[in-house]
Amino acid sequence: MLLFTPGPTPVPESVRLAMATPTLHHRTAEFEAIFKEARERLMRLLGMDECVMLASSGTGAMQACMLNLCATKALTVNSGKFGERFGKIADAMGREKVELKYEWNTPCSVEDVEKALLGNPDIDAMFIQVCESAGGLRHPVEAIAKRAKEINPNIMVIADGITAVGVEKIDVSHIDALVTGSQKALMLPPGLAMIGLSAAAVQKIGEGKDYYFNLATEIKNQQKNTTAWTAATTLIQGLNAIFDEIEKEGFDALYENTMARALATQAALEAIGFSMYPQTPALSMSTVYDEDAEPIRKLLKTKYAVNMAGGQDHLKGKIFRINQMGLIPVYESAWVVNAIELALADLGRRAFDGSASRVFNETYFKKA
Ligand SMILES: *Cc1c(COP(=O)(O)O)cnc(C)c1O
Repeated sequence: MLLFTPGPTPVPESVRLAMATPTLHHRTAEFEAIFKEARERLMRLLGMDECVMLASSGTGAMQACMLNLCATKALTVNSGKFGERFGKIADAMGREKVELKYEWNTPCSVEDVEKALLGNPDIDAMFIQVCESAGGLRHPVEAIAKRAKEINPNIMVIADGITAVGVEKIDVSHIDALVTGSQKALMLPPGLAMIGLSAAAVQKIGEGKDYYFNLATEIKNQQKNTTAWTAATTLIQGLNAIFDEIEKEGFDALYENTMARALATQAALEAIGFSMYPQTPALSMSTVYDEDAEPIRKLLKTKYAVNMAGGQDHLKGKIFRINQMGLIPVYESAWVVNAIELALADLGRRAFDGSASRVFNETYFKKA
């Protein structure tokens, strides 16, 4: 079965093997050397002044940002489940919030953020996804962050890049916290969350808030190549192994390949009559709207050995999402669009003529 859900993604064999070594104790020089290497590589990937690794799923890092970087009022952007989650975290942590709410195919606009910030000068932190995974949507985070900082240079801009880091190079010039997780584009098992931080964010964290998610405590420890609590040792070994794997060709090659697969998938799906769901599709996943999506997804699983994701809430049964994150062999992606075309024929919706894989290949292998 090909795992084509937008997280978790398949873990490469070299990485699985690197995590199969005997358990290390975390308070040892041996592990500190591994941690140091992972930290340096992560810092380069995120391109920020500081970073921390947390033993938690991605949501833990989202919560850590709310606790440590928002003191008065949060601005949250809800274009789907993950943006909604920032709002729920604000409520749970007792932070006042202003929420900008959109349909799941609609990106947040610079103007709406501008209006919210001018109308609420007490907002001290804003929270947004780079890619909102609920509908495979790319927000214009860079432009929004830039405008937010013009309005209030002290505002903290927290970007959830869980389905963006490792997909594309993100301009972090105006971002104070860039959140990511292990199980998406970094192709590791779930359980490690990472946050890149700006110097301004480190300053605002100060003494830190919370106990487990006190980022000041983590920064102090991680600068010494250790962690406040027991480190996710195995996943951090895996992180070095995935860096080894990606760096064989380099991150730029991964970004280029991800884009090529995403664009070829989109062209192939459009060639057989589908439309993309989001107004601004992300490169991390290809999301198609279809009134009768569920039978297609079921057939892919039962007949064509492809596991792709559906939709949640009001989009249940109305979309399917094809992963593009990670080192995906191109022949797998070509099979996925072909399988979708075959499923349409099985369902009596469209005669099979091989258009999907032809257009996929023409687009992917087109020479510039
Ligand atoms: C997967 C994901 C998360 C994190 O979810 P966890 O289940 O807590 O790891 C957060 N934001 C986005 C956009 C995601 O896709």
